Amino acid sequence: MMKSHARVVVIGGGVVGCSVLYHLAKHGWTDVVLLERDELTSGSTWHAAGGMHTINGDPNVAKLQQYTIDLYKEIAELSGQDTGVHLTGGVMLAATEARLDWMKSLASKGAYLGIKADIISAEEAAEVMPLIDPSKFVGAMRTYVDGHLDPSGVTHAYAKAARKLGAEVERFTKVEDLVQNADSSWKVITNKGDITAEHVVNAGGLWAREVGRMVGLELPVLAMEHMYLITEDMPEVMEWNKKTGEEVIHAVDFDGELYLRQERNGMLMGTYEKACVPWMPKDTPWNFGHELLDPDIDRIAPSLEVGFEHFPAFKNAGIKQIINGPFTFAPDGNPLVGPVRGLQNYWCACAVMAGFSQGGGVGLAVANWIIDGDPGMDVWAMDVARYGDWATPKYTNKKVQENYSRRFSIRFPNETLPAARPLKTTPIYDKLKKAGAQFSDAWGLESALWYAPEGVSDAFSWYRSTDFEHVAAEVKAVRESVGLIEISAFANYTISGEGAHDWLDTMLACKIPTDGRMTLAPMLKEDGKVIGDFTLANLGDDTFFIAGSGVAEDYHMRWFEQRLPDDGSVQIVEHGASMTGVSIAGPNARKVLQAVTDHDVSHENFKFMAIDDMYIGMAPALVGRVTFTGDLGFEIWCEPEYLNYIFDELMAAGEPHNIKLFGSRALNSLRFEKSYGSWASEYRPIYDPVECGLDKFVAVDKAADFIGKTGLSENKQNQKYRLRTFVVDVDKADAVSDEPIYHNGEVKGWVSSGGYAHNCQKSVALGYVPVEIADEDDGWEIVIIGKRHKAAVQKQALFDPDNLKMRS
Ligand SMILES: Cc1cc2nc3c(=O)[nH]c(=O)nc-3n(C[C@H](O)[C@H](O)[C@H](O)COP(=O)(O)OP(=O)(O)OC[C@H]3O[C@@H](n4cnc5c(N)ncnc54)[C@H](O)[C@@H]3O)c2cc1C
Repeated sequence: MMKSHARVVVIGGGVVGCSVLYHLAKHGWTDVVLLERDELTSGSTWHAAGGMHTINGDPNVAKLQQYTIDLYKEIAELSGQDTGVHLTGGVMLAATEARLDWMKSLASKGAYLGIKADIISAEEAAEVMPLIDPSKFVGAMRTYVDGHLDPSGVTHAYAKAARKLGAEVERFTKVEDLVQNADSSWKVITNKGDITAEHVVNAGGLWAREVGRMVGLELPVLAMEHMYLITEDMPEVMEWNKKTGEEVIHAVDFDGELYLRQERNGMLMGTYEKACVPWMPKDTPWNFGHELLDPDIDRIAPSLEVGFEHFPAFKNAGIKQIINGPFTFAPDGNPLVGPVRGLQNYWCACAVMAGFSQGGGVGLAVANWIIDGDPGMDVWAMDVARYGDWATPKYTNKKVQENYSRRFSIRFPNETLPAARPLKTTPIYDKLKKAGAQFSDAWGLESALWYAPEGVSDAFSWYRSTDFEHVAAEVKAVRESVGLIEISAFANYTISGEGAHDWLDTMLACKIPTDGRMTLAPMLKEDGKVIGDFTLANLGDDTFFIAGSGVAEDYHMRWFEQRLPDDGSVQIVEHGASMTGVSIAGPNARKVLQAVTDHDVSHENFKFMAIDDMYIGMAPALVGRVTFTGDLGFEIWCEPEYLNYIFDELMAAGEPHNIKLFGSRALNSLRFEKSYGSWASEYRPIYDPVECGLDKFVAVDKAADFIGKTGLSENKQNQKYRLRTFVVDVDKADAVSDEPIYHNGEVKGWVSSGGYAHNCQKSVALGYVPVEIADEDDGWEIVIIGKRHKAAVQKQALFDPDNLKMRS
């Protein structure tokens, strides 16, 4: 008999749902039930190739994958269920030097995560993986914690282990609808009756979209067809097994876009083909279950041809079976996890495209988040809040196809992906484009990276590239005269109401500025770690303006809305693209601004961190004396209908000073020499303000009991790291992010972001190092493209350490 109440109902009995259930039970929430419309594994799980890997370009995802693989022993022991795990290790093969460079940087990143990976020659790769033709490759990365498993065994092991701990699993129970009760619990309507649940988890896999639609959500998730083949017995494989007593190890052939592993006495080979096909782009039929899709060998033929060249033994192998099955992706290929803004107690655990590498980590994060209110790790890369309403079904369709077909492609640090763009643009988009703007998209909005002369664009590379001299010129203009950058991509919010001041005083860790003033405003979680860094302005009349990271708009709104008082005394509005802006910066910025406004913007009348409404020519605007460049500068916010006009006014007034447009790459270059951190790079919810250097803006002694105050003081012993600025002795390529930092020959930390500071002509990296050695002068090295380079800690900002320029 199915229970009528549960703390959590997990919808979906694939590998992900079962992992969520297991983790909830493991952490003591045993009044939990999983509902599966059919048998367990009735979605994408049953026909998976069962491959698992630790290596991933994103270190946080790599950690999660490592956790997942480590977990299999635990669930096998607890459940008594065989998971069929074969930890064979593997090789990742590079057919080009650029690919090998990528592998070198991945292998070195593995160093600080404790993931062992070695760069080896193609011949060495052929010694450990006998099917390779080494003449087709230039090198490889040997990995050790990879392998394959039995997808059904693993799923049942999670479920059995969860049951042993007290959780329940109800098969053949289809969730038909979800209705929220007045107390925020959910009425879960099933074909077998209703259950009331405090929380529901959407682990619907192939039906995640439909389970989203039950609550009015259009999740950016889409299934793609995916094919792999299994060969007949191969003598080469059997000989190797006999000779070595071991299985043939895994291989990923990035340039052939193939993965392979042993399957019985033959091999399994899968591909992410360029001519990829979405499956059921609109609705997933409920009667789909344990069936496979028709294979289409023509579609994968180009990849197989490369496979036969790179692994010649396949030429003589018979094909026993071709599997074609669907599985889901988010637009960037990472999972969609966490609570959904605007919904109470509705959790996502979907779009997990590599369920056997990531399912354990996803389950842990979701369980932690439900139980503790915090995922307990840095989940930004998979947080469902990284997509907003702009991620529509068509957008998702285009991006998922792009992601699928590029699954094994190199993504260079200066490469932007073209699909589904432009989507959101501001009124000056065409003007900037005409001026040579090279755009990237963030939060769906196009914004300029840099300005290229006619005929020049980014040559994608690990090294300094075609933009170098042009970004240098943009930086020079700012430091020597004046530059203009569009800042519409920042998120901004208005908070108002009679309770606004006191509410912000508890939400933010800074002092609340007085009327007409601004301040930098860190926002902390209960555990004292940083969940936001903003500029907060007091506009008077119980009205405040906040600007922050654009990509974190929903992430922050989710946080704000969950904590709004219920008495209606505070209102918060996010402006999205309905508030646009530009910033002018450089020693001549004031002259330019003064030329277009009657407002007195002299230093005496409009001091550093002042903010006021003013007219720019005929247009109303909100102007703050603040800039991220570390120079004298102003941010000018306006409604979009005025942006074109304000832009023209400022450009005309700037002409005598040779005003130059600059983009976000120049802005980064400028911030590096000021040692300024940035959200999602230096500032992430795993660091506390002391670690990331935001403590100077935390008003520990203020009267308000702000969120994180207690956590911060309890954290003192756990403040393990410090953010430091390094100047790296390198001349062709700069740090980007996640490169390891060595001290006296040992890996000790990692880079959070880096690049070339054109004004001071130094390669700069910001990064985290252990507190015990953070003040050491010598012994530092940073790995860039696999090579260690000497680095020197920079104790003060490289440019204007006393902040005289921006205050002048
Ligand atoms: C051909 C192929 C090869 C693959 N190879 C690999 C690989 O090598 N390694 C790897 O890691 N991954 C691989 N994958 C991907 C892997 O299968 C997925 O990552 C994984 O299955 C996702 O699991 P899930 O639990 O999210 O979804 P699913 O397996 O789709 O599970 C969702 C479950 O929810 C149930 N459900 C949905 N809606 C409801 C409802 N309303 N009520 C009740 N129940 C509901 C469904 O019946 C289903 O059982 C492969 C996939 C395919 C197709």
